[in-house]
Amino acid sequence: MLGDLDEEQREVREVLLVEDNLIDAQLIRRLLRRITDAYYRITHVRTLNDAVLSAEEFAPDVILADLNLPDSRGTQTVSSLQTSYPDVPLVIVSAWEDEAISLRSVKAGAQDYLVKGHIDGANLHRVIRYAVERKRTELELVRLAHYDQLTSLPNRTLLRERVDHALRRAMRSGAGVATLILDMDRFKEINDMLGHEIGDKLLVEAAKRIRASVRDQDTVARLGGDEFAVILEGVSEAKEVLPVVERIIKSLEEVKTIDGHEVNSSTSIGIAMYPDNGNNLSELLRAADLAMYQAKASGRGRYQFFANAMQEEAQSRRALEWALRRAAEKEEFQLVYQPQLCLRTGRVIGVEALIRWMSPTRGLLTPHHFISGLEEFGLIHQVGEWVLVTACEQLRRWHEMDFEPMRIGVNVSAQQFEDPMFIDKIRNALRETKLPPEFLELELTESSLMSDAAIASSLLREIRDVGVRIAIDDFGTGYSSLTYLHEFPLNVLKIDKNFVQSVGSHGRGGPISKMIIGLGQNLGLEIVAEGVETESQLEYMREHGCDIAQGYLYSRPESTETLTPWLKANQRVSETHVRSITIKKQGSRTGP
Ligand code: C2E
Ligand code: CA
Ligand code: CA
Repeated sequence: MLGDLDEEQREVREVLLVEDNLIDAQLIRRLLRRITDAYYRITHVRTLNDAVLSAEEFAPDVILADLNLPDSRGTQTVSSLQTSYPDVPLVIVSAWEDEAISLRSVKAGAQDYLVKGHIDGANLHRVIRYAVERKRTELELVRLAHYDQLTSLPNRTLLRERVDHALRRAMRSGAGVATLILDMDRFKEINDMLGHEIGDKLLVEAAKRIRASVRDQDTVARLGGDEFAVILEGVSEAKEVLPVVERIIKSLEEVKTIDGHEVNSSTSIGIAMYPDNGNNLSELLRAADLAMYQAKASGRGRYQFFANAMQEEAQSRRALEWALRRAAEKEEFQLVYQPQLCLRTGRVIGVEALIRWMSPTRGLLTPHHFISGLEEFGLIHQVGEWVLVTACEQLRRWHEMDFEPMRIGVNVSAQQFEDPMFIDKIRNALRETKLPPEFLELELTESSLMSDAAIASSLLREIRDVGVRIAIDDFGTGYSSLTYLHEFPLNVLKIDKNFVQSVGSHGRGGPISKMIIGLGQNLGLEIVAEGVETESQLEYMREHGCDIAQGYLYSRPESTETLTPWLKANQRVSETHVRSITIKKQGSRTGP
């Protein structure tokens, strides 16, 4: 016999024995005491109620329970014990005639069963060991299905369960529930730059901090990637949510380094409230997501509550996206062309290509209705390539018509400029249309060049090496830094039309235009004044030495059909004619 001496060397197992029959209880006690590989310490209760009550202070390693108790019978005993002890393996001990019920108990979640009169020390010990093992595996599977591996936070599946419960409680109590979606800013960048290991550590740290910023009863889940959700119960108003939101944002901003690498993380948060913004998890997540995007759009480390306007906006964005995708497929875009005239000779030296969208539902649209959409939905690359080829093709046709050779200006979005394939697309367009490169002039804005001046400089050099000309569009509206002008291989500065149109008044237009012209002369660049509408604007530009003018005064942007005869008539005009054309054209046409 082994005494208590060996207790320390043996594994101790706490057993909760639920058995109303004292003789049966005594038997099990005796059998357990005989087992030598483990020491079983037994707590014996005689009713289900006592078993349930002791769950508060007692966490057994295993429960041995008779199915039929004074206050409970059959599988009801199983389900009550499972609710009270969800993590504890359960072995049913039942009479022979109850075997069918015992089997059902196992189906209901008990780990195993023993039949009275057939129990001996060996099988009792084995059954308990397997029950413990089985329960552990079950719990592990549940954990895998419900928790994120990296951060150990609940995943989407568990979030759904938690929110279902939270909403049900809220419905009963009339309280509100706040759903927060958190999305780390620049996470992809950090991950790409510093590697996944650092990225993962940042996520783990973020998870910890979010968890520490909320109450124990609140749910924090990882939705995937760098997206987290927080569910706050019992909050009805924004002012109750705000302190939590601000605490989270602050705690995440404090993560400055991971393993000595600078990460400077920040997080944007979108918030949706039950019941105002949605009745179920999907609706609430969608609303919070929209609000989160709005928050991101307004800068980093911000939060935003959902407003109904966002829904409408999102719907119209989706409609626009769909329409633009179709437009790109069905070639609903067209180009119009606006001539540029040399102020010294009066010659048409070029045209600028400007895009239009012939929308089947909204008619002919100018770019400000859709360019940002093309950029947002990633369609600008495809459409931009079409613009490039179409413009080059059209210019070559004009060249074939015995006109004086002109050049063509093509507008390029920042996104296109940053596309690694852009240079190849330029080469392809020239090759396909057989246009000599010196007739193509790309118009870029200051901001697309200035996001990274070093990269821009090398890209510009590549473009220049192909032989294509480069103009800076809307000059004077972007960065005021002029130092880069020396470094970039440029050909043209285009004075923004707002300056051109305010030269007459006492505003800044005059001095700024003069300054730009002087700057261009120093750097050997051509100056184009765009948006010239009046004689006096034209006069001012000519007087101050501007080279080229473009604007409604000469011609609005026109289709090929309209512009071709105009070009024939105006291709070679003397200086005096420049004025007479302008007089003739003024107010005579309303193009797109
Ligand atoms: P932008 O490059 O500054 O083009 C000049 C804009 O001024 C054009 O507007 C033109 O129609 C307008 N304009 C020309 N002369 C006058 C004038 O005398 N008075 C006034 N008030 N306006 C004049 P549009 O065609 O609506 O184009 C707007 C912007 O859309 C362009 O500004 C350009 O940034 C962009 N864009 C146009 N076509 C394309 C394109 O193919 N690709 C890209 N990425 N952007 C384009
Ligand atoms: Ca332009
Ligand atoms: Ca412009």
